[in-house]
Amino acid sequence: MPGTPFELEVNPTIPPRLARLQELADNLWYSWDRPTRALFARLHPSLWQTVGHSPKAFLKRVHQHRLDAAASDRAFLDAFDRVLAQYDAYMTATPERRDDCGLVAYFCAEFGFHESLPIYSGGLGILAGDHCKAASDAHLPFVAVGLLYDQGYFQQTIDALGNQHALYRDSDFEDLPISQVMHPNGGELRLRVALPGREVELIVWRARIGRVSLYLLDSAVAENSPADRAITHRLYGGDRTTRIEQEILLGIGGVRALRALGIEPAVWHINEGHAAFMVLERIRTCMQQGLVFAEALEAVAACTVFTTHTAVPAGHDRFGRDVIRRYFELWESEYGVPFDAFVALGAEPDLPSGAEFDMTSLAIRGSRFHNGVSAVHGGVSARICAHHWPQVEFSDNPIGYITNGVHVPSFLDPEWHDLFDRHLGPGWAKQLADEKRWRAIADIPAQQFWTARQTLKSRLFHLVRNRVAEQHRRNQGSEAHLDRLLRFVVPNQPKVLTIGFARRFATYKRAALLFEDLDWLAQLVSDRARPVLFLFAGKAHPADGPGQDLVRRVAEVARMPKFEGHILLLEGYDLRLARRMVAGVDVWLNNPIYPLEASGTSGMKAAMNGVVNLSVLDGWWAEGYDGTNGWAIKPVVNGFHEQDRDREEARTLYEILQDAVLPLYYAPGPLGFSEGWVELAKRSIMTLLPRFNTERMLGQYVERFYRPASDRAARFAQDGYAPARALAAWKAKVRERWGSVRIQRIDREKRRIVYGSRVRFELAVWLNGLDPADVKVEMLLGRPSEDGQPHRATAYELLPAARLESGEQVYALELEPDLCGKTEYRFRAFPQHPLLAHPFETGLMLWL
Ligand SMILES: *Cc1c(COP(=O)(O)O)cnc(C)c1O
Repeated sequence: MPGTPFELEVNPTIPPRLARLQELADNLWYSWDRPTRALFARLHPSLWQTVGHSPKAFLKRVHQHRLDAAASDRAFLDAFDRVLAQYDAYMTATPERRDDCGLVAYFCAEFGFHESLPIYSGGLGILAGDHCKAASDAHLPFVAVGLLYDQGYFQQTIDALGNQHALYRDSDFEDLPISQVMHPNGGELRLRVALPGREVELIVWRARIGRVSLYLLDSAVAENSPADRAITHRLYGGDRTTRIEQEILLGIGGVRALRALGIEPAVWHINEGHAAFMVLERIRTCMQQGLVFAEALEAVAACTVFTTHTAVPAGHDRFGRDVIRRYFELWESEYGVPFDAFVALGAEPDLPSGAEFDMTSLAIRGSRFHNGVSAVHGGVSARICAHHWPQVEFSDNPIGYITNGVHVPSFLDPEWHDLFDRHLGPGWAKQLADEKRWRAIADIPAQQFWTARQTLKSRLFHLVRNRVAEQHRRNQGSEAHLDRLLRFVVPNQPKVLTIGFARRFATYKRAALLFEDLDWLAQLVSDRARPVLFLFAGKAHPADGPGQDLVRRVAEVARMPKFEGHILLLEGYDLRLARRMVAGVDVWLNNPIYPLEASGTSGMKAAMNGVVNLSVLDGWWAEGYDGTNGWAIKPVVNGFHEQDRDREEARTLYEILQDAVLPLYYAPGPLGFSEGWVELAKRSIMTLLPRFNTERMLGQYVERFYRPASDRAARFAQDGYAPARALAAWKAKVRERWGSVRIQRIDREKRRIVYGSRVRFELAVWLNGLDPADVKVEMLLGRPSEDGQPHRATAYELLPAARLESGEQVYALELEPDLCGKTEYRFRAFPQHPLLAHPFETGLMLWL
């Protein structure tokens, strides 16, 4: 059509009776309250789909007559009032128990709450989103800080050959559940962060997550150069320059934003290394109060928590010293932050050449509470980071773990609510971690349980049919072929055993492991009486070639005649598709390379919906699997080549499918379904939901980190930061003198004693000018064991006794061993100070 098209959007006026719809649209509470979302959908179901489930976009485009009709529709108004009553109750409830920890500020590069706010890429973001939701539920004093990416993460399409196409679309901020933050004195709130040769201006947006606020920084303002406006363009987009600039805006801009808002956190949480520059900005402000760098570092680290989320090197951001110099050089002349001391915070001995500054190292040196996200990953991280505590065994170093959880209201399908109300009692949603209570899942009649499962599968099948059809038509496939592809996806008879695999297409997650032996796989899926359907979904990062090869490989196998209809690849994996998939399939498959899956959370979402996990014993599943609640692929670890390892693990996978999964799922039963399967699915919910939820997870963060860090914050700031100064001075002294500290044994060693008698142990320690109280001497006593570590050793402290003429300090212990038989013991000495967060914080230790 000739002529220039002009756009005009006509927005409806919300009738006064429905005015609070706007409030509901402005709070991401809707992301876990299904009735709120249903309210919008009900006003105009197809528009709700068109606007991608965004309530704000919906309210701008819904037709006036629909709103007017709803305003006088009794049934709609009843539902609306019920939702509002729930919302008000949630927002104004007083906590049963208020946590006595100070305000926590949580920094992360991505947040995933709902598909209507596309600023997440995968598990890290969704975990961060769930953390905020749980903090809101728990009435925790909590704010979050991130970046607002105007194009967010990409939208994915996959063509007929399996090539992934990344589409970046500008978000219309008016459609997002955010609002711009204004200055307390009027006008918009502005911040400035210096980058080489210029200052970048930032504006701030606020998202409401129930009771919690998330502040998002945005560089897309007219005063900035086009290049600077683009810094916050895309999540994990751009090049290394974009990456460091994003991280500077997040870490440094984030701290400034909170300050500008008058928010004073007691505890600071760095969620993954991207946000670690916050440490520097806080050190700078501390130094303005008269502290030197080392003292300011103590004050800052004392109340900082760092969570690491990855075991793969690409997940750790590194920058060259020259790059760091370019960005931070002026900090020395302008603020007196010594450049060398700062660079030393990011130093790591094993860095590849050129990269000399490691964000994970900065985060570790800038925090006193550190954790991985599962038991396996805690161990891996302790090993990766062992050089921070060079004289301490990695198994004893301060890196612990808190296993991830997922936000149950967001991922448990409401289909279960009635059944749970009836069998667990109405309070179940508030007692998620009560394992005893969850045993009552066993009492749900098998038929009802199965029906709920079939309903969820049926809903998923509707979505699958729509998505596959859309994909297929766009890729110019025929209708006849589409029917063939969808022949097992029958929503009103969702009988086919359905196995889901959906997550980022990162190579270590091995999306193609299932295709190691295509003949075997073909045999498994093609029994007409026992068909199998595999559903794959996930995005590969646009810069990850091998990841995109995996997408192509899945598409390629799916096209082979023997697998047509048995393997479907769905495009556009996002929170919506995730919610449906984790609830709708029968089996959730995960087969990463051990030990690279830090935690994995999609399997937790699946488990709570009665989906059965079939996974490599890595990440969370190494803790979750108990032999009765799913299936485990034991990783092949020692001495195998990659290919042999993959072949072995694939073999285990086929064997489990062939010998366990298929026979159990298709076992005949008098009621027309397999009761054994229902038993297993119930075990999945009952044993896993109470443990792998964010309520448990957040409780552990509060208990182990937030509360102690909050106490330390208060303590370290006393008397003009006197404790921070004292600790910094003490560490300097200890580091200088430790190298010449010596220990020797001076008691007469006994090899045999009678039970009930006492033995005296004495060590002489050359303290090299340290105070006897600066050094702790311990004996570790246990059973001998082969690998050189005393077995189940108990530590006994030797206390300072006399001082010898030589100047050595005697430490002694009188002990009456309360065990018989052969024992083994060792001695060690390490620096101690009452202000240390962990006994081995200094990383110094001496063994006899
Ligand atoms: C839960 C979730 C993930 C994380 O999945 P993993 O199994 O941990 O890799 C990624 N993307 C979406 C959309 C999710 O909901």
